[in-house]
Amino acid sequence: MTFEEFQLHPDVLDGVHMMGYTKPSPIQEQAIPSALQGKDLIACAQTGTGKTAAYLLPILDHIAYDRPAHTVALVLCPTRELAKQIDEQVEGFGYYAGASSIAIYGGGKSENWEQQKRALTQGADIIVATPGRLIAHMQLGYVKLDQIDFLVLDEADKMLDMGFSDDILQIVSHLPTHRQTLLFSATMPNKIRDFSKKILHEPDEIRL
Ligand code: AMP
Repeated sequence: MTFEEFQLHPDVLDGVHMMGYTKPSPIQEQAIPSALQGKDLIACAQTGTGKTAAYLLPILDHIAYDRPAHTVALVLCPTRELAKQIDEQVEGFGYYAGASSIAIYGGGKSENWEQQKRALTQGADIIVATPGRLIAHMQLGYVKLDQIDFLVLDEADKMLDMGFSDDILQIVSHLPTHRQTLLFSATMPNKIRDFSKKILHEPDEIRL
C-alpha cells in the first residue's frame, strides 16, 4: 500500500513526502481510511507504530480541503514532551497545507503561560494540549472549542493512569457532540473501554 492510495489532498501528500514517509505503517493503513470516512476510532497502538500520522493526516486533509476559520481539532495527550512532538509533526505534515498548531502544557516558566494565552486567543487549526493545563486556560474564557470537528485522545491509558479522567470529561462537555473522536491507547483495559463508551460513537476498532 502507498500513501497515494488514501487520496489525501495533494498538499498533505507533499507534507508526507517531506517528512520522508514512503510507505504507511500497519496502523496508518487501517486507521486513515476509517478516519477519512468520518468514523470514530478506538485503536490499540504502542508508541513507535506511527499513530501520530494515523490521526494527523485525516485531520490535515480536512483542513486542506475546507480551510475552516475555526479550530478544527483538539489533541489531548499526557505529557509536555508528547505535546511538543505532536506539535512538531503538525508543522512538518501540515507545512504545505498551511496548517497551524499550538502546544499547551503545564510546567515551565510563567512566560509560557502568557505565550500560550496569546496563542490560544489568536487561535490555530489544531490545539495539542495536556488536559490539566487546558482546563486552566478554559476557565479563563479565551479558549474556543465549540466548533471543533475532531477530538483525539493520544496515549489514553496513560492519561487515565495520571488521573486526567475527570479533566477530559469536563473538556469533552464543552465540545460539539457532532464531532469525530479518535482514541489511541497502548493497552486496552476495561477502564479504557468503559471510558471510551462515554465519548465515542460506534467506533471502528483497530488492533495490531
Ligand atoms: P509515532 O508512533 O507516531 O510516535 O511514530 C514513531 C516514529 O516512526 C516517528 O519517528 C515517526 O516519524 C516514524 N514513522 C511513523 N510512521 C512512519 C512511516 N509510515 N514511514 C516512516 N517513518 C514513520
